[in-house]
Amino acid sequence: MGRNLEAKCKQCRREGEKLYLKGEKCMTAKCPMVKRSYRPGVHGPTSRPRPTPFGIQLREKQKAKNTYGMLEKQFRGYFNRAKKMTGNTTDVMVQLLEMRLDNVVYRLGLTRSRSLARQIVNHGHVLVNGKTVSIPSYQVREGDIVSLSEKARNSQMLQGEMARLNQHQTPSWLHLEAAEVVGKVLHAPQDADLKQNFNPKLIIEFYSR
Ligand code: SF4
Repeated sequence: MGRNLEAKCKQCRREGEKLYLKGEKCMTAKCPMVKRSYRPGVHGPTSRPRPTPFGIQLREKQKAKNTYGMLEKQFRGYFNRAKKMTGNTTDVMVQLLEMRLDNVVYRLGLTRSRSLARQIVNHGHVLVNGKTVSIPSYQVREGDIVSLSEKARNSQMLQGEMARLNQHQTPSWLHLEAAEVVGKVLHAPQDADLKQNFNPKLIIEFYSR
């Protein structure tokens, strides 16, 4: 699977808001959005393109795609899948994105960025119902138990990540036993459970043109 090689902080600057792609750095004064919140490039500080309806839809789509760390083909695939499924396409697409295994690991607070969550899934450190699952796009289901391998729980790097699990606010559709580092999927996320930085309706409009 290809991956987006553009610098993560540039992606935030292009969207003009924090996408929280780099874990701890995003919470500190070292975040480039603190001092250079303008668009990247030589004309970044001065140019202010007038947004068109298409431009607004495009930016929302790009923001969501970069937030979940995907390339265009893969992200569009979620729209195509959602369109074929029963229910409201907007809600179904968001549910499919949120219920990716790497996103669930991130939402549970086991890592501070989706990219690290994806890495530990890829390396076989994440278990679903006690079995190793090494596919970041794996769709979890209601009732699934998500945990980490013993090796991961003992690793210095992940212990640093998990040191602040007690303060982490788990979304209402997930439950975390912080002491055991075990999470459970309570139900599929509904609109009220989600705090998104993008407008999914505009993404559906973008792909439905
Ligand atoms: Fe975005 Fe995080 Fe980089 Fe700040 S530090 S620009 S929030 S990726």
